[in-house]
Amino acid sequence: MKLFRLAPLALAALLVLTGCPDKKTTTEVETPDKLPVAPVFNPDSAYAFVAKQVAFGPRVPNTAPHVKTGDWLISKFQSYGLTVREQPFQAMAFDGKMLKARNIVAQYQPQAARRIAIFAHWDTRPFADKDEKNKNAPLDGASDGASGVGVALEMARILAAQPDSLTPAVGIDFILFDAEDYGYDSSTQSELTNQLAGLESSGGSSWCLGSQYWAKNMMPAAYKPEYGILLDMVGAKNGKFSREDLSRQRARDVVDKVWNIAAQIGYSDYFLFQDSPGITDDHVFTNQAGVRTIDIIDHLPVGDDYFPAYHHTTDDNMSVIDKRTLKAVGQTVLQTIYGE
Ligand SMILES: [Zn+2]
Repeated sequence: MKLFRLAPLALAALLVLTGCPDKKTTTEVETPDKLPVAPVFNPDSAYAFVAKQVAFGPRVPNTAPHVKTGDWLISKFQSYGLTVREQPFQAMAFDGKMLKARNIVAQYQPQAARRIAIFAHWDTRPFADKDEKNKNAPLDGASDGASGVGVALEMARILAAQPDSLTPAVGIDFILFDAEDYGYDSSTQSELTNQLAGLESSGGSSWCLGSQYWAKNMMPAAYKPEYGILLDMVGAKNGKFSREDLSRQRARDVVDKVWNIAAQIGYSDYFLFQDSPGITDDHVFTNQAGVRTIDIIDHLPVGDDYFPAYHHTTDDNMSVIDKRTLKAVGQTVLQTIYGE
């Protein structure tokens, strides 16, 4: 299509002369670029990884299921030949508890110069404070936590299984944060004191303790991937991923790339071309650390109910998980990696 450069006045005159121009006759219909071959993401396998985490029990820091799940995640990545490191840390939660936590870093093709980060959080919220009845009960975190990790694990499994001829041009770092979901929610916990309120006034948060620690102690050191993709709540039936504000501000090109690929491979029911407000999630701190990161997170672009109904309730269990959503996200991110 040729672009006609007209001065605004001339353009106005033209519009007056021709009336309302028919846009269709002047808009070129773009044929999508042919996408590179990417491996097939297996949603059954991703689902099994989500179920396995949930079966350990809620992954709340300072509990046995949390430790066991962390050990299992490390052994799974190692079994696929990835280079795995742990980043142990202690952090005080908003209620004054000292949390024993660890971030997990698993590198695929660690020698590759060009890198992409896949982030997720592997802990679960200790209380279902948005639940109608069981506000102090822990939750399974099937979507909020386990789904992002399940997609990451399945990607690692698939990448490791590829022949040399189908190796992507980039290395991938799977970085799983701990203690993301132990934050203070003023809408449900106003009777409690947020002992980290001071941290919040200086750009920190009672949420995302693992990514805040990582941002100050980067692993790998001086880490400079081309960009990062955060997967959070990517497993629920009818998941809706709209274009979150901070993602657009910091990595608009990555948002466009991922959403366009999703549309091209048939997942525009999940990846909505709609904008939504910003959210406090691990990408706030990875962006602060200089890694341009987008957040793929299940939330609606309109209305007061920003989060899906299962969010931070005991309903966030395996019954909300849908393999089709896992497939939409996993295949889209894999296809994105194979386009690099
Ligand atoms: Zn959460």
